[in-house]
Amino acid sequence: MDVTEDLSQYPLELTGDDVPMVRFLQVTKRYGSLTVLDHLDLDVVEGEMVTIIGPSGSGKTTVLRTLMTLERINEGVIYVDGKPLTHMERDGKLVPASQKYLRGMRSKISMCFQHFNLFPHMTALENCMEGPVHVLGIPRQKAWERCEELLEMVGMADKRDQYPSRLSGGQQQRVAIARALAMRPKIMLFDEVTSALDPEVIGEVTNVIRRLVSEHSLTMLMVTHQMGFARDIADRVCFFLGGRIEDQGAPEKLFGNPQRKRTQQFLRAVKEAL
Ligand code: ADP
Ligand code: MG
Repeated sequence: MDVTEDLSQYPLELTGDDVPMVRFLQVTKRYGSLTVLDHLDLDVVEGEMVTIIGPSGSGKTTVLRTLMTLERINEGVIYVDGKPLTHMERDGKLVPASQKYLRGMRSKISMCFQHFNLFPHMTALENCMEGPVHVLGIPRQKAWERCEELLEMVGMADKRDQYPSRLSGGQQQRVAIARALAMRPKIMLFDEVTSALDPEVIGEVTNVIRRLVSEHSLTMLMVTHQMGFARDIADRVCFFLGGRIEDQGAPEKLFGNPQRKRTQQFLRAVKEAL
């Protein structure tokens, strides 16, 4: 059983000049007796690209899934854009967020998964339009224009009328990125989006993400096993171990001159596995 946590220690909202886009404050997530996130503190500022690396089982996916509100947390509070995400205010106090509150907050965040999860019975364009039309209530014509533009951006405009089964993995993933962007999120989450791809198509997906980083002011969190890509693209790299941030810093520092033993061990092991 969870001991009920005293939520009065957490602010109702974040104020001041330096409010981050995302703040995890003492976030703990457990599955039964297994602690997957352990009093995690993590800030991501607006427009920042943070990559998350670390061994399997260290809690990387869970960080993204709790932020996407796909998982409830056991302790702590997550804030998005200064407002609580996992909780809401009632009578001047924080209480766990209702489904309705979560739905409202979730619209600020989109996520792309390792397995692209496109709707198989819909074309590329219909996949992209589904959320804007049915969740956001945007008029079809307007959603259509926006989705055309996004498919163009990911280099998939000429395949807009194809069904996913007719597309390669790299193409499906690019459609999935366009679909996520069609929701106009402030925050984009990527969970090992190249892991299920054949090596020769990985570049088409990483190039789309590179473009997003250079041309848009989105706030992004990306879990990846591609150390070279993480190094190139990140403003900051977080090394996860046991549900905590074991080490973090600018990519040139973390990869080029890691100070902590555990980071050195992990990077050596990854290198040897290549
Ligand atoms: P990573 O993405 O770093 O490999 P995850 O965040 O997916 O790690 O998982 C962290 C730990 O939580 C793992 O030990 C995993 O087995 C466990 N876990 C994840 N999801 C569940 C779940 N739904 N039920 C039970 N355990 C889970
Ligand atoms: Mg994972």
